[in-house]
Amino acid sequence: MHRPALSVVVPCYNEEACLAMLHVRITGAARAAVGDDYEIVLVNDGSRDGSWAAMQRLAADDPRLVAINLSRNHGHQLALTAGLDLCAGQHILIIDADLQDPPELLADMLAAMTDQDADVVYAVRRRREGETLFKKLTAAAFYRVLDRVTDTPIPLDTGDFRLMSRRALDALLSLPEQARFIRGMVAWIGFRQVPFLYDRAERHAGETKYPLSKMLRFAFDAVTGFSTAPLRWASHFGLALFFLSFLLMIYIAIGFFTGSAVQGWTSTMLVTVFLGAVQMFVLGMIGEYLGRLYVEAKRRPLYLVADIAGPVQGRATLGY
Ligand code: UDP
Ligand code: MG
Repeated sequence: MHRPALSVVVPCYNEEACLAMLHVRITGAARAAVGDDYEIVLVNDGSRDGSWAAMQRLAADDPRLVAINLSRNHGHQLALTAGLDLCAGQHILIIDADLQDPPELLADMLAAMTDQDADVVYAVRRRREGETLFKKLTAAAFYRVLDRVTDTPIPLDTGDFRLMSRRALDALLSLPEQARFIRGMVAWIGFRQVPFLYDRAERHAGETKYPLSKMLRFAFDAVTGFSTAPLRWASHFGLALFFLSFLLMIYIAIGFFTGSAVQGWTSTMLVTVFLGAVQMFVLGMIGEYLGRLYVEAKRRPLYLVADIAGPVQGRATLGY
């Protein structure tokens, strides 16, 4: 299989309105950086709009473009995994379809990779334009909480927009987990990784494909995938409660022997309700990990490919 100097991998979900501009700008940036020796890999993650038809048209006109159609919506991180599995380049640029991350930074990122002899150049968001205050606040909080609980240092304010070497990508693809939090997994593989500061632009068109529910799922995958701290908190919390209840027992015993026992319905209820809530929460947390074990134990493929448009030789269609 021919290995082009560069692969640009783009997961797309309902991005019809962005695709034409995306193609033009990536082509411009790739040509400026590496000449003709590049490929663009678009992954259609079960879009409901005309994205797949648009991709097929682009693939028909541009021999350097490969379009992959997943069998359904598998989610951003798995769509990205599909593209990474199937791309062939010696350097790999991961970028969103909405042009919030400017492809024109490619040349500078390649230069940074060579100058600093790095395997990963990850783009750090200095500013974020055109996103709601809620998105900015939750994102900022997410990266900081994640940093506190995980054992792997994951760079702050860094999305999936990054340039990787082939050996870094192969290392990444050797991690088999189902619940994929790619920016954390890249941090885990090590090698030399350097930051690259940039300002994040507004979406070119359309709206965010990350509603609150997907953001929560993503955050859970990140925390449970990279830390067992929540399980530890559960036992610490149980221990603290045990000491508190011990104090309470002494208090009750004193009341019993001095004859001033409290007839407290209120306090009993408070304790019961509080303990009930804590138990449910802790059980739920344990359940999160158990659920993950179950999903991993099934060893299903990560994604399924329905069609590929463009140069297909040597590309597998099952993601294990
Ligand atoms: N995306 C995807 N599958 C999904 C959701 C999103 O492939 O189920 C893609 C989307 O098309 C975009 C990227 O993931 O290229 C990031 O999504 P988005 O821009 O909506 O996220 P935000 O920038 O708002 O965090
Ligand atoms: Mg976006």
